[in-house]
Amino acid sequence: MNNRLRILSFIVMTYMLAALCWWAVLLHRKNTDVFKLESQLLQERFINDAGIPTVDVTTLPEYEELKASFDRQMMMITGEALVFGLVLIMGIYFINRAFNRELAIAEKQKNFLLSITHELKSPLASISLILDTFIKRDLPKEKVQELSADALQESTRLNELFNKILLATRLGNTHQFHMQDTDISNLLSKTVEKFQRVYPNVKLEANIDENVVKSVDQDAMISVVNNLLENAIKYSTKSPEIRLSLHKQSEKVTLLIADNGIGIPTRERTNVFEQFYRIGSEDTRTSKGTGLGLYIAKEIIMAHKGKIKVTDSPLGGSQFEIIF
Ligand code: ADP
Repeated sequence: MNNRLRILSFIVMTYMLAALCWWAVLLHRKNTDVFKLESQLLQERFINDAGIPTVDVTTLPEYEELKASFDRQMMMITGEALVFGLVLIMGIYFINRAFNRELAIAEKQKNFLLSITHELKSPLASISLILDTFIKRDLPKEKVQELSADALQESTRLNELFNKILLATRLGNTHQFHMQDTDISNLLSKTVEKFQRVYPNVKLEANIDENVVKSVDQDAMISVVNNLLENAIKYSTKSPEIRLSLHKQSEKVTLLIADNGIGIPTRERTNVFEQFYRIGSEDTRTSKGTGLGLYIAKEIIMAHKGKIKVTDSPLGGSQFEIIF
């Protein structure tokens, strides 16, 4: 349907362009005919009874005037045709761009709905299964505790997912950041320690300059760092290795998070920061996600007047660089 619309609009635009060219050619011809006719009439005023021209009209001021008027008309037709053609081509370009943008948004929203459905269904299915097991079977106390912990973990995951969606929605509108002077070195060290307790098998090397103080929203900063660290694990095929560093040079603070994961192709490096964007297609992708994490990270960093980008990693995967 979309392609049919696009083809139809191209046919209409091409027709308009062709009609414009034809209009210019016709006007050009008509103008030349009028000029020839007027020159002939002028010449007829200087023909003797034997039908022989007595004066070379091209030397007369009247002829000069006719010629100047003809040239002006020609210039006007050419100018109008050019301006109209240019406006038409620009119109085609902008319509096409808007059309492509709408298609991309529709595709992203479809991807988001598919992935969000999956993200919502899988923890709910685990919790239902656990509750079902409790009803049907009489389990020993340790097993009940173990399964309850699993159910709790799944409900925490659901909660985090809803928080992410809410935050992403609020960031574009009403979200209030609570900025306060913060020892970022300390904040990062604590985040890294906590992360290592949750993922003891992940090799995480941290190199953090001491006493780096900046005005930040602490919760927002922690969520950016956690998101980048979790992505480093999620998008790796081998055993994950992460290198985190924080450096301050004069007033510039640089935070680097590098991984040895699957990397991000150069052409995708700006796309991944868009809302709902995930690399690849929902049919072939195996990792879970919503395409909101990096969008949220970018919005938070921008609210801190900083910049975030992704580059090649010295460890072979991706490296996220935050400067503020
Ligand atoms: P999600 O992980 O929920 O899909 P994100 O916004 O965090 O959403 O990431 C967007 C996309 O960027 C991911 O789907 C993934 O394709 C890519 N990506 C993010 N981080 C990494 C990484 N460290 N290595 C490789 N690809 C990544």
